[in-house]
Amino acid sequence: MRIETDLKLGFKDVMIRPKRSTLNSRSLVSLEREFIFLHSQQKWSGVPIMAANMDTVGTFEMATALANHKLFTAIHKHYSLQEWKEFMQTADDNMTNYMAVSSGIGTADSKKLAAIFKQYPQLKFICIDVANGYSEHFANFVKKTRQQYPDKIIMAGNVVTGEMVEELLLAGADIVKVGIGPGSVCTTRVKTGVGYPQLSAIIECADAAHGLGGQIVSDGGCKIPGDVAKAFGGGADFVMLGGMFAGHTESGGKTIDINGEKFKQFYGMSSETAMNKHVGGVADYRASEGKTVEILYRGAVENTVQDILGGLRSTCTYVGASRLKELTKRTTFIRVQEQQNEVFSK
Ligand code: 5GP
Repeated sequence: MRIETDLKLGFKDVMIRPKRSTLNSRSLVSLEREFIFLHSQQKWSGVPIMAANMDTVGTFEMATALANHKLFTAIHKHYSLQEWKEFMQTADDNMTNYMAVSSGIGTADSKKLAAIFKQYPQLKFICIDVANGYSEHFANFVKKTRQQYPDKIIMAGNVVTGEMVEELLLAGADIVKVGIGPGSVCTTRVKTGVGYPQLSAIIECADAAHGLGGQIVSDGGCKIPGDVAKAFGGGADFVMLGGMFAGHTESGGKTIDINGEKFKQFYGMSSETAMNKHVGGVADYRASEGKTVEILYRGAVENTVQDILGGLRSTCTYVGASRLKELTKRTTFIRVQEQQNEVFSK
């Protein structure tokens, strides 16, 4: 046994220090970024915020709404080929820049991935997602997927440490997904004791990825627009959101009426609800590592998008970054023991 005593930080442990700036309006800030990805060498531009590949978040409806703002959606892996067909008949060409096809590492997953790409070769992104990206089997799967799809943009994870980011990039990932345990409906830290504070994970993993010419997506733990800004400030190239995009018209999940108020169901992809729905129950050798919650219906996702992008533009003006790309360089975090004033919160 060993103990690491370096302090590791989450979003709640810091604030961003304001800096002198010549920017006099938020409207002068550009949130678009342009990347050329490490292996695929594909060029992408857009606003690097993405909806998580959860069936209560990463839906076709969400992708359509977010693409209007050049935001990205990792489409969840549970759509059938028929559902893909119906969606692709109506989706315009530009949509393929803003969506990924998700896959696990099972044989059925890779067969479905192959079937989707055979029918729709214009799709560009693959999201290979497992709860624990530390297995050798996972890195091998990434390697095989890279060999099979040399020109697709591959996003893979999740991991939280630099050495594993490097291993996945060397195995063929263009973007590494970073985050173990911070998610809003995740119970991994409760059930296993395993995890890593998300801001430190971002800082360390971004450093490792950028050293090799790769990118990271910070996945999980953002509760408010300020957390999204902190994730970018810490060095994330992309930020993935689950809970912040849940509960909207475009989010999947049942709508429930409780005492006349409308709620939407939201659950983790390793929750009992998800496992009952997709794999016929929780296998007896494992525990569910996700929870199910009902959240107050929040209307169209458009309003939430404006709120997040508005917040982010404002962060950039506070630190004098005219482009999102400059935010990390302009960020000085200060360690704090307080966040917002909660005197009037419910
Ligand atoms: P959020 O933005 O809601 O804080 O986090 C979203 C992320 O939580 C997802 O992208 C995924 O990485 C993670 N996640 C989703 N479902 C589960 C689950 O059931 N268990 C765990 N451990 N993580 C989950």
